[in-house]
Amino acid sequence: MEKKDELYKGKAKSVYATDDAKRLVMLFRNDTSAFDGKKKEALDRKGMVNNKFNAFIMEKLEAAGIETHFEKLLNDQESLVKRLTMLPVECVVRNISAGSICRRLGVQEGLDLNPPTFEFFLKNDDLGDPMINEFHIQSFGWATPEQVEIMKALAFKVNGVLKALFDAAGLLLVDYKLEFGVYEGRVILGDEFTPDGCRLWDKETRKKLDKDRFRQGLGGVVEAYEEVGHRLGVKFD
Ligand code: ADP
Ligand code: UDP
Repeated sequence: MEKKDELYKGKAKSVYATDDAKRLVMLFRNDTSAFDGKKKEALDRKGMVNNKFNAFIMEKLEAAGIETHFEKLLNDQESLVKRLTMLPVECVVRNISAGSICRRLGVQEGLDLNPPTFEFFLKNDDLGDPMINEFHIQSFGWATPEQVEIMKALAFKVNGVLKALFDAAGLLLVDYKLEFGVYEGRVILGDEFTPDGCRLWDKETRKKLDKDRFRQGLGGVVEAYEEVGHRLGVKFD
């Protein structure tokens, strides 16, 4: 497998073509951003930690019967993935209130959500990823009704698998964002699952062990990601 041109440089990852038209190299950089890119910093080791964290989670999801784009780790900061046609929506599942839902609905942080709730956001940096509903998705053709149903079902299936996994490690899975894409006609999980895109709290102390440490300037960002990884059994070396 030969790595070719950079196809896309996002806020935290870069994507490269390969000599196989169906596969991409995904590079996890140390770059970290928040507030629509207004706060930015390169955090030592974060690329390696997230690459290995993501590989671990994607393998757990595959083992639970959830198809993902992940194929294999290539090195510390790169993984080989299936090339997807991404659906331009972000799927957010929330088990506990935190972040934008608190600001939007005026609710306090830390409320248990029964049942867990689900939101779609349009993936559009210029617009600050606005929240959208299923009617918008259909009216503007961002995904078909069938794809919407599959994304919701898979997002909740991921919740069942990962809530249990994190619970066993003494962690609360507060919320997370997923992105899906189409591969050979099937909707499968793409992008990443790392503490950059989810909220994880210690079950006992409710200490934040995710990107809120960066957003809120709490420090110890990568150390917190590593602590979560160690508790799960991720090998960072
Ligand atoms: P952003 O675009 O939000 O700044 P990243 O820095 O994480 O995000 O960049 C990674 C980009 O790669 C995202 O736009 C994501 O939608 C896209 N992507 C993730 N997985 C795949 C895949 N398997 N095939 C094609 N594109 C992907
Ligand atoms: N999230 C993400 N990328 C985004 C927006 C949100 O990974 O562009 C994640 C975020 O880390 C959190 C969840 O999705 O785990 C819900 O985010 P929220 O809507 O609360 O927005 P925030 O306040 O985190 O910006």
